[in-house]
Amino acid sequence: MTERSEIRSTGFVDEPYSLQRDMLEAVARVIKSGKFILGESVSEFERQWSEVCGTTFAVGVANGLDALEISLRALDIGPGDEVITTPLTAFATYLGIVKSGATPILADVDPQTGLLSRTSVKERISSRTRAVVLVHLYGQMRDMQDWLEMCTQNNVQLIEDCAQAHAAEFDGKKSGSWGVAGAFSFYPTKNLGALGDAGALTTNSADIAEKSLTLRNYGQSELYLHDQIGLNSRLDEIQAALLLVRLGKLEEFTLRRRDIAEMYWKNISNYHVELLLEPQQSRAHVYHQFVIRSSYRNELRHHLERHGIHSLIHYPRPVHKQPAAVYITDQSNDLSNAEEFSGTCLSIPCHPQLQDSEVLRIAETVNEFVPKGSVNSLSTGR
Ligand SMILES: *Cc1c(COP(=O)(O)O)cnc(C)c1O
Repeated sequence: MTERSEIRSTGFVDEPYSLQRDMLEAVARVIKSGKFILGESVSEFERQWSEVCGTTFAVGVANGLDALEISLRALDIGPGDEVITTPLTAFATYLGIVKSGATPILADVDPQTGLLSRTSVKERISSRTRAVVLVHLYGQMRDMQDWLEMCTQNNVQLIEDCAQAHAAEFDGKKSGSWGVAGAFSFYPTKNLGALGDAGALTTNSADIAEKSLTLRNYGQSELYLHDQIGLNSRLDEIQAALLLVRLGKLEEFTLRRRDIAEMYWKNISNYHVELLLEPQQSRAHVYHQFVIRSSYRNELRHHLERHGIHSLIHYPRPVHKQPAAVYITDQSNDLSNAEEFSGTCLSIPCHPQLQDSEVLRIAETVNEFVPKGSVNSLSTGR
C-alpha cells in the first residue's frame, strides 16, 4: 500500500476486502431470512458477546446510551436516587443517568489518566447514592479490585460504561464482568462497531437480564402484556449479523491497537508533550484512543493538521459545562482536574488500519513540535 499524505482518525475505507465481502454476505442472509427484528442473529450475537465478556448474559439493545438507562432501571434506580459518574466522558454517560430519572452527581478525575478518581467519588457518596457509573475511558481499566471493594463497603452498585473498552481485561476478567452490569456501545467508531447504532448490556444477574429484555421491548414481559413503561431499544438483526462478522476481527484489531500504542510509547519524546500513565497490566488497555497532553494543545493540533495528521479532542468540554447540564448539575463541586484535562488532551490517530510508517511519521511530527511561546522566550534570552 502506498503511503497516504493525509492520516485520518478512522480506517474504515482501508479495511480488508474480505471483511467487506463477509459483511455483504451476512446482510444478504438476513434479507433472505425475512426476519429483521429479534431473530437468530441477535440471539447468536448475545450468546457470543456474553462469552467474550465472561458473563452469563448479554442483552442486545439499540445503542450505548440505552444500555446505560436500561441497566440503571433494571436495578430499580430512578427518581430520588443519586448516581455518581465522571464529567470527562461522552455526554451519553450522563444522559443515561438523567433518562433513568436518577440525579447524576459528578466527581473529579485523576490527572494522570483522566479516569474517575476514587477519592473524589468517596467524598460525593451520600445516603441517596445507589450506583457509580465507572467509565473505562479511552479503553483503560485500572484498580478494579479497589473499585469493587469501595463500592461494596459503601453499599453502592458498580456499573461499568464499557463503550470504549471492548474486551479490555484486568486480572484476567473482562470489562463488563466486574460490575453488576456493563454497558456497551457498538457505534461504528468503537473498537467493535456496527454499521449504524447498536449496543448491549452484560450481567451475571438473571433478574437484571430478564428486566432488560422486557425494558428494551416496550416493557413487554409476554406478548401484549406490558408491565413496565419500556423503551423501543432493540438491536437490529442486520446490525447483529454485521457485528458477528466484525467480532471475528476484534482480537486481531485490538492487538494492532496495542502495537501502535507501543510504537507511540517508544518513539514520542517531546518536552512539551506528556503521555498518560502506563497501563498497570498489558491487557488492561485496548487503546480506543491514544491520548497525549500538552499545555500547548491547540498549537500542537494545528501543527499536526499542517502535516496532514488529523487529531480529535476527547473531550473539549466537560459534562458540567454543557449548556444542557449547567442548570441540573451542582456547579460548586470541584471538578478542576477534569477541566484542566479537557484543555490539554489530544487524541492522535490510533486505529487498526494505520501502517507502521504512518505511526512513526505521527510520532516524528509530534517530536518536531515547538510551541511558539517557548521559541520566543528562548530568542529573547529569558
Ligand atoms: C460512545 C459512548 C457512549 C454512547 O454510546 P452510543 O451508542 O452512541 O449511545 C457512552 N459512553 C461512552 C464512554 C462512549 O464513548
